[in-house]
Amino acid sequence: MDMRGTVRRAMKSAAAGVLHHSGLRKALAAYRRYQSGGRRILIVSYHRVVADFTGELQRSIPGLLISQETFRRHLEGLSAAGYEFSSLGDALDVMAGRRVAQKDLCVVSFDDGYRDVYRYGYPVLKQMGVPAITYLPAALIGTGQRFNHDRLFHLVRMAQARGYKPVFDVMPAPTTELLDTVLSGRKRLSAALDDFIGRYPTGTLVETIQALEERLGPSPELLPEQGDLMDWDEVRRMVKDGFDFGAHTLGHVVLTHEPLEVVEREVRESKAIIEREASITVRDFAYCNGWYSDEVIRVLKRNGFRSAVTTEDMPNLMGGDPFTLKRKVLWENFSVGLTGGYSRTLTVCQLDDCFSTLGMRAPVLGRRLQNAPRGEVVW
Ligand SMILES: [Zn+2]
Repeated sequence: MDMRGTVRRAMKSAAAGVLHHSGLRKALAAYRRYQSGGRRILIVSYHRVVADFTGELQRSIPGLLISQETFRRHLEGLSAAGYEFSSLGDALDVMAGRRVAQKDLCVVSFDDGYRDVYRYGYPVLKQMGVPAITYLPAALIGTGQRFNHDRLFHLVRMAQARGYKPVFDVMPAPTTELLDTVLSGRKRLSAALDDFIGRYPTGTLVETIQALEERLGPSPELLPEQGDLMDWDEVRRMVKDGFDFGAHTLGHVVLTHEPLEVVEREVRESKAIIEREASITVRDFAYCNGWYSDEVIRVLKRNGFRSAVTTEDMPNLMGGDPFTLKRKVLWENFSVGLTGGYSRTLTVCQLDDCFSTLGMRAPVLGRRLQNAPRGEVVW
């Protein structure tokens, strides 16, 4: 781990301890509640819940992983911090003033429909009676395909492992740029990938995958073994147990990078496929990469959606816009304290937003210009 990260972690751990033991955490929570206009509505977001975290960490994007054990502890921690678990629909009713909540609410959400969630997350939720919503990339469910982000991560790691040198004149410019950034050690792979996905449309991601496969292949190992998705039978089983599903485009497309015809198709067809396969009504959406625009919101409303979640780590306000719902994205290291083990104090402080209330952390906002070059931000 880098030095800055270590210092930041030490500061957070120390602050968490002081806040927790002085009772200041509760005061901050009360202040947050007042700021939100009544009850707090916390939406947490996970990607993959895994059985073997250490093993998976060797081959997967770290920020998508949480162990089953830590996941269970998060749910227990949320409960202990005074949150009541709620379906998204009930939370939307409270936010809109259609219903009154007795306690602060927490909605559990999963992006991407990874099969790990079915295998290791769903049993914990079921056992603890916690509702959840999973946002599905509809066209990928049941196909055996992998996400572009997981494929890129896997291929660049293969290139790294083979001591590969990028050949600048034979590969598309974005491919050499990505390889060069990572192989030169200027950025860690997951950070470089975040930038890359934030900059280029899906078409470029697919071209990059093809270019890397051509250089590295042929090999049966080009497709990552991990990162498989649920199939429709698994989705239907969860529906039968009362779990909710929303749409997350057809093929995991960052909509603000795409022309409006593509946005329209991704929104309309993802909803239709999930409704047909799972026999449910789909009215909730999750923006890929957390990015949205006024145009994307208009398309969602026109297609019968009632809400959409971002990855903006801020409080949801009473009467707030249901198409820019704020979420806290969580993974294993969110809870790792100074000693490298699970820290309950740190977890609870993070969940209670102590650090942002004290100005120790600024959220990343998701609003973008539609189709702007290089994913420019709107300020
Ligand atoms: Zn996603």
